Amino acid sequence: MAGLAPGRKRANPSRSSRLARVVPTYYACQRCTACCRWPGEVRVTEAEIQALARHLGLSEDDFIQYHTRVRVDRLGLSLMEKPNGECIFLGGADCTVQPVKPRQCREFPNLWRFPGFQDYCQAVPREVSDEEYLRLTQTDRPPTASPESSPQPDPICAPPSTHA
Ligand code: SF4
Ligand code: SF4
Repeated sequence: MAGLAPGRKRANPSRSSRLARVVPTYYACQRCTACCRWPGEVRVTEAEIQALARHLGLSEDDFIQYHTRVRVDRLGLSLMEKPNGECIFLGGADCTVQPVKPRQCREFPNLWRFPGFQDYCQAVPREVSDEEYLRLTQTDRPPTASPESSPQPDPICAPPSTHA
């Protein structure tokens, strides 16, 4: 879909319409937790570390020591994984830090995604109005997030077959 922003597609372009209307598609997460289990990095910013540490009642130093590791590119930190590869904060079928989970987690798959993500993610697509799309994706963002504190979209939750 070259030329269209993520989450948008052409709506039923008719022969008579040379300017097809563009409607947003919102992917409703089904909380299958697949993206919390597949290999990869969940990058965390300084602001996110502060929020996570506060949420867990830890000092930032302790949080960094016990719950993060240096990213593969060595340019920052990511959340630690359990020995089986799933995120350290996955508890059963729930994210145990849901209110303060990193923006990278919140924004997938509506504000960033990788080609073929539907093969791994069970989020259900539905066409919505522009207003609803804005409202829904707004709730994908943490209240304190700022563009500066956002990690770059990255296939940290990339499918196992393509992630190193
Ligand atoms: S922080 Fe929560 S949502 Fe993000 S990968 Fe870990 S368990 Fe999943
Ligand atoms: S893989 Fe998709 S549907 Fe499953 S928890 Fe992640 S975003 Fe939601």
